[in-house]
Amino acid sequence: MRTKIVVGNWKMNNTIAESTKLASELLAQLGEGFSGCEVGIAPTFPALQPVGALLENGPVHLVAQNCHYENDGAYTGEVSARMLKAVGCAYVIIGHSERRQYFGETNATVNLRVKKALSEGLKVIMCVGETLEEREAGVTGAVVSSQVREGLEGIDDISDLVIAYEPVWAIGTGKTASSAQAEEVHDLIRTVLVKLYGESVASAIRIQYGGSVKPSNAVELFAMPNIDGGLIGGASLNAADFAAIVNAAR
Ligand code: PEP
Repeated sequence: MRTKIVVGNWKMNNTIAESTKLASELLAQLGEGFSGCEVGIAPTFPALQPVGALLENGPVHLVAQNCHYENDGAYTGEVSARMLKAVGCAYVIIGHSERRQYFGETNATVNLRVKKALSEGLKVIMCVGETLEEREAGVTGAVVSSQVREGLEGIDDISDLVIAYEPVWAIGTGKTASSAQAEEVHDLIRTVLVKLYGESVASAIRIQYGGSVKPSNAVELFAMPNIDGGLIGGASLNAADFAAIVNAAR
């Protein structure tokens, strides 16, 4: 039985003051003694430390939105996995489609980042997903399989890995994959994992769905056999909506 995991990706939103306010509201919404699924929030880099201080010893994980594949050095604008670990992050999101689309991330650089993050003791949420053109061309399976295979190249131990399937056409667009469409790709990802790592390892890996998840569609999506929670963008910026999505996963 896989424990569901729901993570809010705040993207490039909220000042430090706005971030700590949202985190406090979320903690109040979830209530004392919260349990039943894993939850994380991913603020911007400047807000990691103050939000982390609020989350300390609580049930909500601190998550980063990206990391570099070197420990330190001349990489202006980048932050390393070692630094994220030191600030208290438990997870890091790697290979989000916005990183691939706007910042030139490829399966190869995603692979380097995943390797580094795991080796520094961070858990990783590795994002995969097809564009609308790829879906319409009938190559969703091929694209997502290569993203999984190439993203995990040379990685033997995936026990600290979560995969997020996020069809690019459903991110921030209000268009959600139907639960059947999402389940079909989640099942395919698990089949790829079985081929790479065997049945028992593959069956333990959580595969989140992301793409316009809202309180109104979360229950149906999370009820599918291979959908193990969600990576939530827009709806995670409202504490009540995000808490409702978390409750749908519990
Ligand atoms: C995301 O950015 O990971 C995401 C799924 O965004 P949204 O929920 O806004 O579609």
